Amino acid sequence: MRVADAHADMSSVEAELSAWLDKGFHGDMDYMAKHGTKRTRPAELVPGVLRVISVRMNYTPPAAKEGWSVLHDGNKAFISRYAVGRDYHKVLRARLQKLADTISGMIGPFNYRVFTDSAPVMEVEWAKKSGLGWRGKHTLLLSREGGSYFFLGEMYTDLPLPVDDPVGSYCGSCTRCIDICPTQAIIGPYQLDARRCISYLTIELKGSIPEALRPLIGNRVYGCDDCQLVCPWNKYAKITQEADFAVRNGLDDVSLVELFQWSKEEFESKLAGSPIRRIGYEQWLRNIAVGLGNAPSSPAVIEALQARSHDPSPLVREHVQWALQQHDK
Ligand code: SF4
Repeated sequence: MRVADAHADMSSVEAELSAWLDKGFHGDMDYMAKHGTKRTRPAELVPGVLRVISVRMNYTPPAAKEGWSVLHDGNKAFISRYAVGRDYHKVLRARLQKLADTISGMIGPFNYRVFTDSAPVMEVEWAKKSGLGWRGKHTLLLSREGGSYFFLGEMYTDLPLPVDDPVGSYCGSCTRCIDICPTQAIIGPYQLDARRCISYLTIELKGSIPEALRPLIGNRVYGCDDCQLVCPWNKYAKITQEADFAVRNGLDDVSLVELFQWSKEEFESKLAGSPIRRIGYEQWLRNIAVGLGNAPSSPAVIEALQARSHDPSPLVREHVQWALQQHDK
């Protein structure tokens, strides 16, 4: 837990955000362009706020299959490690609430509001300002003690707490995350074209995935961890102690064909409480169809695709058709 001055100068951050939006790098994430300066000026969101408390919570699940081994097996589905357990929003929010209750137990009632990816809050920037870590060239927050496999949460408060100092940047001359990115979405240090990012393409994008990018997605069906897997600082990442983040339904090491055969009811029941459920069944099938298009050709893969060639969803049908064409070349 670290503390930043809620009135700290964010003018350079505002300029960078504005330039990023002007280039259209946010794609369909319209919410990034909404809210004006509320995102960078906490007092416009919570009047009277004096401090931003930033917290982080490790999410690497114990006993999860090693990421590269799944990525290198074209018949398997890779799911970003933050998403193989239960949704983090409730867990982190409950922890922040507990922190607020502890503080009020010590000093009496105080004003606060907690956030977990739930409002226009520049969470990486506040974490950086408070010294929780530095922004890596992949744009995620990095910590020398914990790498980057953690969630961030914030508390805005009117408590005049002492402010922590930022830490230095320790990326040095490393460019591993930029070099490894399958779609070259990190167009330069600290610059992400989200429209090319596999996390955006598989989670945020609602419609058709651009054809040129589909072969580059490989078997990543929900998010992408390559830039984190390759980062040397993640040798310091800690295994989570949080039972809710443990792997559920074998999602760390599961076959594409098996996932593609899930009915809508299975999708809803098996992924109840999972962050994956928010993308919906149609988008889920779309993503797996791309993975199957990139999988080694086999009767099982082709049969699985053919079984969905008349899917009621035009989006799914289009991606299945593309996938079948990949096996017809
Ligand atoms: S891979 Fe290298 S450049 Fe990228 S965030 Fe990690 S240390 Fe920084």
